[in-house]
Amino acid sequence: MALCSSCSAPLPANTCLCSYCGTRNDMDFAAVNRFTIAREPSRRLCPDCAIQLETVKVDTGAGLFAIERCRQCYGLFFDLGEVPAFLEASVSPAFAVNLRKIATINEERGNFNRPVRYIKCPECGTMMNRVNYGTKSGVVVDQCKEHGIWLDNGELIHLMEWKKAGGELLPKHEAREPKEYQRSNSPFPMTTPYLETSITADVVSVACSILRDIF
Ligand SMILES: [Zn+2]
Ligand SMILES: [Zn+2]
Ligand SMILES: [Zn+2]
Repeated sequence: MALCSSCSAPLPANTCLCSYCGTRNDMDFAAVNRFTIAREPSRRLCPDCAIQLETVKVDTGAGLFAIERCRQCYGLFFDLGEVPAFLEASVSPAFAVNLRKIATINEERGNFNRPVRYIKCPECGTMMNRVNYGTKSGVVVDQCKEHGIWLDNGELIHLMEWKKAGGELLPKHEAREPKEYQRSNSPFPMTTPYLETSITADVVSVACSILRDIF
């Protein structure tokens, strides 16, 4: 369980506001070790607080990213394509879908109290679309097709945990499941898809390591 950055009281997964000292915690970057904040503020404004965003430089070890963050609400703005790239560079690939884990994460991290609201793109000012990220990630992100994605505080860590639990493999997993179920008389029809997934993933990871050796 995460701890409050100010008083070290335990923070439940789905809240950023410490009930002991009232501090609002950055739930996302608490999990990211290496980051620095650029001295120059961004010219873009937070769509919620209307203050200038700051640019946070993150080194995930597998890539460098410049992400804009609001220092008041800890919302994050990612340029186009940057969310999947960041997840790729910060979460090790999952080889199997852990459905139970995904359900738990969505239950714990889901933002059930926040009212639905539409916000403007920090770049062009047009209303952003609300889009469910991935399949059943439980995270509804605000997206401008031209400029990028806004994540509220806590949504990045939610996506990271979801990816770690194999969330991105869900569409493939679900498409295959009914067929496997009919073919098998085993009381554990789930085992076949899991096995296939891990074999494919092994081939991919071997191929990747070969490629790394070549280049
Ligand atoms: Zn506190
Ligand atoms: Zn803000
Ligand atoms: Zn835009």
